[in-house]
Amino acid sequence: MKKIGITTSQIIMMDPSLCGYKKMNVTTTYVHAVQKAGGLPIIIPCICSEEEMKQYIELCDGFVLIGGMDIAPVLYGEMPHAKCGAYDYDVDVSQLAFTKLVIESKKPALAICRGMQLVNIALGGTLIQDIPSLSQEINHAFDYDGNIVHTASLDKDGGLYRLLQTDTIAINSLHHQAVGKLGQGLHVDAKAPDGIIEAISLPEQPLLGVQWHPEMMVDTDPLMAKLFCWVTEH
Ligand code: MN
Repeated sequence: MKKIGITTSQIIMMDPSLCGYKKMNVTTTYVHAVQKAGGLPIIIPCICSEEEMKQYIELCDGFVLIGGMDIAPVLYGEMPHAKCGAYDYDVDVSQLAFTKLVIESKKPALAICRGMQLVNIALGGTLIQDIPSLSQEINHAFDYDGNIVHTASLDKDGGLYRLLQTDTIAINSLHHQAVGKLGQGLHVDAKAPDGIIEAISLPEQPLLGVQWHPEMMVDTDPLMAKLFCWVTEH
């Protein structure tokens, strides 16, 4: 069984009994998606020392970088936009360092939502901090139930097209940020009808980034299940 490292996010508990305590967590859909694809999930803390990160990189055969909160704009050299969402600076610093190690390892990685944004920043790119300030043609943050919200057109030269062999996909959309300036060496694999970048890849290695949430769709859309099999079978 391939060991697939899954990152985590951190929330602050609001429940009266644990109020104020932080909790590292991963939505079950990510774990299910990896298990369904035959991988053995290895849950990685969202704050790690450099030595711990290196051990996880060594231990795992592939990675799923999960979604979560916005990312501190200072990490890509910008001031926070008035409508930038909440972020956790300590988690962002640790996960950005981890994302760089994942890229360096050249092991297969599926970077989802915030994970894809971290990949872009790790390679020198920036984010659109608030999509509605730029365009309101599509409401990318509209449906938190994970229903299909919009389509994306795949670029025939991209890694995503090579894997899925389809021109258009119908996807959910649970993000209010997106890739701005593209990171070095990245290829734009898919765009929404309003021009928002929905998928990226690194042509020289097995790294795919998707802005939507395929982990919510693995039981209903074989193409989304295929993305996780790509990580576990690479
Ligand atoms: Mn979208």
